[in-house]
Amino acid sequence: MGDIPPFFHSLEHDKPFSSCLTCELAFQEIDSPYTITKVFKGPECVFEYAMCLPCRQKMAESFSKESRQRITAFFENSEALSTRSQELADSEDHHEWTKHCATCRTPLAEIIDYSVACMGFGPDMVYNPFPMMICSNCEEKVQERLSKSTRDQWDKFIFDRFEGPPADALKPDGVPILV
Ligand SMILES: [Zn+2]
Ligand SMILES: [Zn+2]
Repeated sequence: MGDIPPFFHSLEHDKPFSSCLTCELAFQEIDSPYTITKVFKGPECVFEYAMCLPCRQKMAESFSKESRQRITAFFENSEALSTRSQELADSEDHHEWTKHCATCRTPLAEIIDYSVACMGFGPDMVYNPFPMMICSNCEEKVQERLSKSTRDQWDKFIFDRFEGPPADALKPDGVPILV
């Protein structure tokens, strides 16, 4: 493990994310990992948030059962994901982990829009399968697996918490779910 690299720091606050978007508990004080997600449209990070694992799990549990099963199946059946976990098992270089789309293996250099996510525990970065980069094509494939109620619920969750330009910039596609 090592420190969370600056790439995954909060752009808005110019320092590492320190608390959960949902429960607002400080990452230094909770005994569980958390994830940091950033959404890029071209070179620009248009959206970023950090959430503790218990809140992520609560959110996932609130999704329809069908949606959950479909998302799980998408990631579990991904050969690319298990291959990269083996290939990069010894790497603690976040560039290595995010060089290709985790599910279709397209190189980052050929991708325009994408999301990245990493996992932290206290001040440290946790590797495998995070950090992860997913291209917008694959995100769409995940979104397509969600029921309309799940998608609406997710959009509402995001837009209730983020007002103004960052959230607006993401319309009308909504925010990708990176479970
Ligand atoms: Zn939380
Ligand atoms: Zn992809």
